[in-house]
Amino acid sequence: MKAWRFYGFGDMRLDDVPEPRCGPGHVLVEPLCVQPSVTEAQLAQGIPTLAFDRIKRRLETEAPIQLFGHEFCARVLETGPGVERFRPGDRVAARAKLPCGDCPLCRTERSDLCRRGPVIGFDLPGCFAERACLPAIALVHVDDRISDSEAACLQSLSDSVAAVETTQLQIGDTVAIFGQGSMGLECLQVARLSGAGRIITVDVREEACAVSRELGADHALNARSVEVVRTIRELTGGIGADVVFECAGGSPKQGLAGHQSLLQALDAVRSGGKIVGVSWFGGPLELNVDLLRERSLRYLFPDISTQGHLEHTVRLVAAGRVRLKPTITHVLTGIESVPRAFEITANKGRFQAINPAQVMMNGPRGPDRGSAAGAPGVQ
Ligand SMILES: [Zn+2]
Repeated sequence: MKAWRFYGFGDMRLDDVPEPRCGPGHVLVEPLCVQPSVTEAQLAQGIPTLAFDRIKRRLETEAPIQLFGHEFCARVLETGPGVERFRPGDRVAARAKLPCGDCPLCRTERSDLCRRGPVIGFDLPGCFAERACLPAIALVHVDDRISDSEAACLQSLSDSVAAVETTQLQIGDTVAIFGQGSMGLECLQVARLSGAGRIITVDVREEACAVSRELGADHALNARSVEVVRTIRELTGGIGADVVFECAGGSPKQGLAGHQSLLQALDAVRSGGKIVGVSWFGGPLELNVDLLRERSLRYLFPDISTQGHLEHTVRLVAAGRVRLKPTITHVLTGIESVPRAFEITANKGRFQAINPAQVMMNGPRGPDRGSAAGAPGVQ
């Protein structure tokens, strides 16, 4: 079968590889729609971010290797011994991080807290291939009301569900969200469903602000035209937001905000309030911790998303309570288009993309749908 393999950073090739075999507890799937996460798209080019050292070491010692592809919708072809939850023909999506099944946490039914298990696409081959063999424990059923394209976003959305849960949001809390990329827009919708009062969002791209308003933001501020911290303070009677999600930070080379948005988030939150760090910065930051101490700020990081989060995510999308279609701006066709999807996803600002670029894996290569207009809603 054909699979994308990495020979080094910036060097991916479509190779013929042996068919994966479906062992006990595993499921053989045919990927239908796959998208690189922003992290994967950056790592593919050797840009330091989450898991950079791990990927670098693997490339140096094991290349060529199949990497990435944990955000997908796939169809089950075959189930291995012991798999009872799935049948051939079922559509599935996955969570990326799996419990190890063997540590003291896993042995005492706290496997949700385990960090020792493999990650799909990082330790196990993912779905940038014609077929993939995946642990059944990673998978959930995709409801018939969810399209292949939407289902490829479920993994990321489940991380956003976990991020909102981490804040222990109170009914009526004012929420500010820096960055209206896919996770920022997901946090917006999940916070709304979880009882948020006023929601103020921030981006530097007018198209992202427009989608944000469409998906329920009370105020979508364009940071190029208004002074964001002052505006958030004005909108909250001078106090600041109860909860701030920071989803804009990262390398300025990819059009991200460096750590400027984190400093703004710290200024925009009320004393005693919470900041949730969703972004990856790719290296150490200088931060005045005394200021956090003085203002009793809580700087939190999202909990790992679990099977329960992913199943909740499926219900939210199936019932139309979270809308993903307006964020899907670029849909490519055919396995050959995978490198193009990486390029668009690593440079979303330049391509006016909101969600990562998706690849419908079957069918002939076609023109990029939506890329010309950069229009949300195409799909
Ligand atoms: Zn474990």
